[in-house]
Amino acid sequence: MIAHWIKSFFLWEILKGHALTLKYLFKAKATINYPYERTPMSPRFRGEHALRRYPNGEERCIACKLCEAVCPAQAITIEAEPRDDGSRRTTRYDIDMTKCIYCGLCQEACPVDAIVEGPNIEFATETREELIYDKAKLLDNGDRWERVLAANLAADAPYR
Ligand code: SF4
Ligand code: SF4
Repeated sequence: MIAHWIKSFFLWEILKGHALTLKYLFKAKATINYPYERTPMSPRFRGEHALRRYPNGEERCIACKLCEAVCPAQAITIEAEPRDDGSRRTTRYDIDMTKCIYCGLCQEACPVDAIVEGPNIEFATETREELIYDKAKLLDNGDRWERVLAANLAADAPYR
């Protein structure tokens, strides 16, 4: 009882709190100044999707629909038809990003590394409609992120 009274009189809990603050004041910061600073990101990170092209500009996707079949969220919709040269290409490639659970199975299933999940995490939108990605949007993502996507795939290649 007396000990409790003495602790209360000398504001012991507040002193303890200040001591803790002082202790961490001189330690290395655990936080970073995002977005100017970023934490390291694994090459396997599963962020925003992208459709890649070959260096000559040709689309990698051969419309095999394996990604569509494997997607557990049924987020991918593909339509395809043969081109004049006989090659098979998609005429429609949509991903409903509001359904996607970022499992990465589409990327794993793709035989030509066409559909990939890149490092981009900054794709929040104001409407749900903006998160229905079409082929043009996915190809644009691929063009924008190709350098990083190729480097990430190369870094992960020995383990696949
Ligand atoms: S990451 Fe998974 S849920 Fe998302 S589109 Fe690919 S297979 Fe579907
Ligand atoms: S992205 Fe890959 S898995 Fe999907 S249809 Fe195209 S080639 Fe096939």
